Amino acid sequence: MNLSKSRYCKGVQCPKMLWMDKYMPEKAADLNNERIFETGNIVGDLAMGYFGDFTEVPYADNKSEMVEETAKLLAAGTQNICEASFVCDGLFCAVDILHKNGDGWDIVEVKSSTELHEIYLHDMAFQCYVLRKNGLNIKGVFNLHINNSYVRYGDLDLKGLFTLEDCTETVFAMQDDVPGNIEYINAYIDSAGENEPEMDISLSCQNPYECAYWPWCARHLPSPSVFDISRLPAKKKFEMYDSGITGYGDVIDKKPKLSKNQLRQVEAAFYHLPDEIDKEGIRECLAGFTYPLYHLDFETTQYAIPPYDGMKPYQQMPFQYSLHVQEFAGAEPEHYEFLGKEGTDPRRALAERLCEDIPEDVCVLAYNMGFEKGRIKELADLYPDLAPHLMKIHDNIKDLMIPFQKQYYYSEKLCGSYSIKYVLPALCPGDPELDYHALEGVHKGDEASAAFADLPNHTPEEIAVIRKNLLAYCRLDTLAMVKVLERLREMISLK
Ligand code: SF4
Repeated sequence: MNLSKSRYCKGVQCPKMLWMDKYMPEKAADLNNERIFETGNIVGDLAMGYFGDFTEVPYADNKSEMVEETAKLLAAGTQNICEASFVCDGLFCAVDILHKNGDGWDIVEVKSSTELHEIYLHDMAFQCYVLRKNGLNIKGVFNLHINNSYVRYGDLDLKGLFTLEDCTETVFAMQDDVPGNIEYINAYIDSAGENEPEMDISLSCQNPYECAYWPWCARHLPSPSVFDISRLPAKKKFEMYDSGITGYGDVIDKKPKLSKNQLRQVEAAFYHLPDEIDKEGIRECLAGFTYPLYHLDFETTQYAIPPYDGMKPYQQMPFQYSLHVQEFAGAEPEHYEFLGKEGTDPRRALAERLCEDIPEDVCVLAYNMGFEKGRIKELADLYPDLAPHLMKIHDNIKDLMIPFQKQYYYSEKLCGSYSIKYVLPALCPGDPELDYHALEGVHKGDEASAAFADLPNHTPEEIAVIRKNLLAYCRLDTLAMVKVLERLREMISLK
């Protein structure tokens, strides 16, 4: 039982991953995948009821127990067996749902993604192979994934929430490749023994999943390397790497095709060029910002399974905002904030407070305004009575990111990024009040998202602490905007 479906899929992506798991697991970076795993479990549990009544094979460390339990359920003519477990020739797999289909069975693999990915086909091909080896008549193979156009109203409709995609033909066609893949993976591990195998980095390191061993396997790269070039597709990065272009010096020598901005990133870092300021460009951007100025930032979270009416799977649900209001340029800002109550739908209360806090006719500033505008438009669609006011706020939003996106200010320190997390330390270095690292518990958007979603699972005391951390984090996002704007104004000598 030494090759499971997940290990088989890893082996298909890169057999060295299995070797690393065995001999150097401590080299794995923490990819913060906990929320993804948790989502997978929630979706998997819910999907068990897709075909109606089902029996789940209880998890056991001793897989033989799961296999024996499955055999009993098969013999009893059970219609839907979840976690149906099989072994053969050192292979083990647990099928998410084994669904009776006439005189045979359908394999159903559940995924929390919103579409079929190629690696799932390998996963299903492995399961089909193992089950056939066990003598089962496999009639169909399906991928059950989330349908992101589903909108929840009332009770969950499993047939609407999930899409059942027929992969039978493709998976059957892949059957001949499975034994060869198994042989290759086993031989690779055996022949390496305890010596780290030589496996050069390749697109497989990032596709279909980012490999946790990347920092270890890529340790020979110079810093910075072509893999740090901003907005360059992974395929292009590996093409450069494969042709011997690894460091920024190689880029300058060999001149691969890059965009103007990418080349600027490389040259600024390589030659340590001084910051560049296009005063006229910045002035044009800032000309549209009028006072009083409302600096706004949302925090959002996503759920694979929409918890509230009117929500789609993975829709960005705003649960918090921070607002710094400046009456005039350079004025001490006033702060407003909203944070939804844990375990409840925060959207209505948030939309109402937003309308209370932001008048219809003021200039609102966001950083990457498409995101804030998108959320406000969704709230307006959901609450028609608030829509006129919300859409006024929406229409009045201006974007503080533009001067950086257009590179009217450029510094080596931005590393080609225009995220505020790069812009802020470049413009306001060493200011302890603006240090995200100094915050407790929540330091970035995805941590805020996970913290809010997880709030109902905590004690009241813990909730109080997490809420405080969330408020401090979001507050810093809009304070950062105030400070960045101040610095831009100083650059062009506008007070
Ligand atoms: S980083 Fe790349 S080469 Fe290293 S184990 Fe992962 S996929 Fe394989």
